[in-house]
Amino acid sequence: MTTVTAGRTRPTILVIEDRAEVLEVVSRTLTESGYSVLTAQDGESGLAIALDQAPDLLILDIGLPKANGLDVARELRERGFRAPVLMLTARVTIGDRVAGLEAGADDYLVKPFDVDELVARVRALLRRSTLRDEELQLRVGTLQLDTVSREVTRDGTPISLTQKEYALLEYLMRHAGHAVTREQIAEHVWKTEFDPSTNIVDVYINYLRKKIDGAQGANLLHTVRGTGYMLRA
Ligand code: CA
Repeated sequence: MTTVTAGRTRPTILVIEDRAEVLEVVSRTLTESGYSVLTAQDGESGLAIALDQAPDLLILDIGLPKANGLDVARELRERGFRAPVLMLTARVTIGDRVAGLEAGADDYLVKPFDVDELVARVRALLRRSTLRDEELQLRVGTLQLDTVSREVTRDGTPISLTQKEYALLEYLMRHAGHAVTREQIAEHVWKTEFDPSTNIVDVYINYLRKKIDGAQGANLLHTVRGTGYMLRA
């Protein structure tokens, strides 16, 4: 969830921490740093808020009533929660760090911590996750492909593809603006050497063309005479 304030986006951070005074300091610091803050004081309600509100980042204490931070992180990851998790721990043993990272945390901070350090870690994690999201989303014109959910849309309308069509489209999108040959397509999508006696690549290009260009606006999938195909907005 991202809150829009005065034309700019404000990332939302959920802080799950049972000690009221720590929660208060962290919340105030983050709010002053321009973030929108949600809070919870036990693992159970924190988990519910994280799933319901989908914050952009989670700050999670390990020692919590009802469900500890490790269990909360593990459960969230199992349920597909993708936002970065910064774990707070009072303990500094290697075992705890490893357990936190294995449970799905992206970084951890040992208590007592400096608030400037906390803000720096938050910024770094948010920057990293924005980059990651951009790399995971491929776009050509109004055509979008999400490499995690494998969802494809054109002008926001979902397009249903077979596995091969999807693989072909992903390959073309990763090379958008460049002509790719039938040989390259066969090698990367079918993982076989190109057999010039078959027209399988052309057949699949036609299936794909019907689905992504079909009745839509400008065509994106172009035939490059003498070479192969190119996806271009
Ligand atoms: Ca605690």
